[in-house]
Amino acid sequence: MPHDSDDHTHAHSVLPSDATLRVKAIETLLISKGLIDPAALDAIVDTYQNKIGPKNGAMVVARAWSDSAFYDTLFYDTTETVADMGFYGRQGEHIMALQNTDEIHNIVVCTLCSCYPWPLLGIPPSWYKSDAYRARAVREPRKVLAEFGVTLPSETSVRVWDSTAELRYFVIPQRPKGTEGWSEKRLAALVTRDSMIGTGFPKDAQ
Ligand code: FE
Repeated sequence: MPHDSDDHTHAHSVLPSDATLRVKAIETLLISKGLIDPAALDAIVDTYQNKIGPKNGAMVVARAWSDSAFYDTLFYDTTETVADMGFYGRQGEHIMALQNTDEIHNIVVCTLCSCYPWPLLGIPPSWYKSDAYRARAVREPRKVLAEFGVTLPSETSVRVWDSTAELRYFVIPQRPKGTEGWSEKRLAALVTRDSMIGTGFPKDAQ
């Protein structure tokens, strides 16, 4: 089978199999030594994959679009402001919101591993953890963005933020046109996970 460009993109989006195997090996060892309970592990994964997920972040974005006082507070102290909405905890101890404008487009990566604001976005997608994304988002962000379908005017600057265990970032994308007067709930439905990482735009108003 020819190595076409789709395959190439796909290969980048998969967590390296040795990493998966290592995780499985460690998990098996911890379970066999009685150090962790597999049911507890499943419950944690289920919580972050299904119960938390990017819908929390979408609620924050929708409120920021709707309420200018909230918007200002959000950029003044993100961690505290989202905690007041009930979004806090593991991997969300220190969060900073980034503001996309016509002048600046923000994109988030963790070059070292996979730091990500779990209480707002859930568990990171596998491409976020891939070696390719972690290296290329810094080296050639515009090219990476284009592969995600994000093309920006040349006058828009791209700013790349390196998440760490100390500080995790999430992006407040620009509000889609034609959504004046929409409820927060309706707005939240337009906010995609990738738009809060900076690798996508929100959906268009229907
Ligand atoms: Fe990390």
